[in-house]
Amino acid sequence: MAIRTVYMDHSATTPVDPRVVEAMLPYFTEIYGNSASIHRFGRAAAKALEESRRTVAAILGCHPTEIVFTGSGTESDNLALRGVAFAQRRAGRGNHLIVSSVEHHAVLNTARQLEEVFGFEVTYLPVDEYGMVNPDDVGRAIRKDTVLISVMYANNEVGTIQPIAEIARIARAKGIPFHTDAVQAGGMLDLDVNRLGVDLMTLSAHKFYGPKGVGVLYIRQGTPYLSTITGGGHERGRRAGTVNVAGIVGLATALRLAQEGRESENARLRRLRDRLVRGILERVPDARLTGHPTERLPHHASFVFKGINGEELLLALDVEGIAASTGSACTSGRAEPSEVLLAMGLPHEWAVGSLRLTLGKSSTDEDIDYVLDVLPRAVARLREIQAVEV
Ligand SMILES: *Cc1c(COP(=O)(O)O)cnc(C)c1O
Repeated sequence: MAIRTVYMDHSATTPVDPRVVEAMLPYFTEIYGNSASIHRFGRAAAKALEESRRTVAAILGCHPTEIVFTGSGTESDNLALRGVAFAQRRAGRGNHLIVSSVEHHAVLNTARQLEEVFGFEVTYLPVDEYGMVNPDDVGRAIRKDTVLISVMYANNEVGTIQPIAEIARIARAKGIPFHTDAVQAGGMLDLDVNRLGVDLMTLSAHKFYGPKGVGVLYIRQGTPYLSTITGGGHERGRRAGTVNVAGIVGLATALRLAQEGRESENARLRRLRDRLVRGILERVPDARLTGHPTERLPHHASFVFKGINGEELLLALDVEGIAASTGSACTSGRAEPSEVLLAMGLPHEWAVGSLRLTLGKSSTDEDIDYVLDVLPRAVARLREIQAVEV
């Protein structure tokens, strides 16, 4: 009998929706022109590009010219931080950045490089036990020379949703540009940039059933920004490089589908997720939910189990056909506990035993039953082995 396979790693990536593939296909072989070309082939590609830009802009509630298409969520984060930091320094406004301590590495390591290589000063905001930033801390961290604030919309490792609108109000009052990495929120939460009050926002298609290797950077009109990918004048000089028209058509189609269906799908996911969380906390001793109990992404369940190694648990689950993560795909392969969990104040012996289960369109009640059957046994077995080794 074939083993059952259960994909519970939708925060790492999602399969491309067949309707998205369908929408993309003509742009590989038929409408293949360079969108920067003058001729009819180029114009056909440019038309699809601008339609996609309007689709995304309508969802974000912004003007199409404020949308920049990029090569990934990581690239958007890099462009946002470096682009604003360099422009602000050039204008003599200062040298100080504020980011949260639970950002994705695309933000965190970019901030660190700005600090270590380019001489910026960075304040890393603390978080509470749920991984949440306190807006008052943002207010307290602001200095005369602060030139950018970046706080993610929803955390990839623990699912916590940050008080973005409140932070945005504080940044706005001081005239400081505010960027949010909204990659995890893309298919699930409200993306209206005016309701949120953000000046820059990052999205990535493959996190909402679109293709990999294509992202969005929203840049509010008037935000100081220097392009750090220089070349031709693509994307109004904000991100050079021949435009990935097929990928962008895929991104726009996927974002539209995800946003149209999000209310009902979120309710479905929340019910499944809550059953999963309840079941695991009931059946596994010395288990804790990580992240906020209610202010969290609807598909996101994350835990720590005392005294086990998260990587070993992943392997044990994989043998049973369950695909999960310790928290972030980008940090796997390392035995050190996650910086995010440590920032939340979890002791080392708990933080190394992390598990993230993120549901998606394919998830069913049978998947939940299967995980609730396999996981408690896997954790118990690992604890037994460790007890013998000690
Ligand atoms: C996945 C992810 C990214 C990186 O996006 P890519 O398109 O994979 O480069 C950035 N930030 C967060 C919060 C993510 O979850």
